[in-house]
Amino acid sequence: MRLRGCHPEPFYPVASPVAHSIAGFWTFMLWAARSKVHLISACRRYLPQLILLVLLANLADIDVLFGLGVGTNADAFHRGFTHSFVAAFLVALAVSCVWRIAGSFRRSFTLYFLAYSSHLLIDLCTGTKLGWNSTASGIPLFWPWKKDFSSPLVLIVGVKHKDLPMLFSMQNLQSSLYELFIFGVFTAALLALWVRHQKNQAMSHERETPARAVYNSNPMQSNERIP
Ligand SMILES: [Zn+2]
Repeated sequence: MRLRGCHPEPFYPVASPVAHSIAGFWTFMLWAARSKVHLISACRRYLPQLILLVLLANLADIDVLFGLGVGTNADAFHRGFTHSFVAAFLVALAVSCVWRIAGSFRRSFTLYFLAYSSHLLIDLCTGTKLGWNSTASGIPLFWPWKKDFSSPLVLIVGVKHKDLPMLFSMQNLQSSLYELFIFGVFTAALLALWVRHQKNQAMSHERETPARAVYNSNPMQSNERIP
């Protein structure tokens, strides 16, 4: 595990829990869509599942506590092992053994892996300046390979967390609101697509139902189905 306390600028801006939590919600949407459950009722009926996916989407930043725990600083171990696919794999494996949220082990594992990996994807695109530049901090995506990966396209400015005044600064509030807006717009677009898909499905079902009724009312055809 790398100690980053000696870095000339040790406090990297990080995407706030706002972005990561919404990404966790996206994986819940995916699960609800595949399960053909209405989203609103799914949120009510499957709240523990939703909370679990949101927690997994935030879990990689637990390494901040490692740094605070050994008394160095919050960034001492930040963006280390926990920000890798190996960690995503191990966490998904462990949670799938305890709770199969999507019925089968394979489906549950995939969902957990996606929720955890959404954090990695967001961190890849987090830097100090929006746009096409090299300000993204980088994460060891393929740990134990020590190379840091970062996106050349920075989509999230991130919040600064050097100390409490900075954590609750106006700049961080603006960054969090920006994340809420961008991720909120994307969520609204996903919801619109989903509603459209459900309407199309309902219409095709309505078209199929009368045709099936006519088919079943025809004794010749109905009898053909009986072996
Ligand atoms: Zn992170």
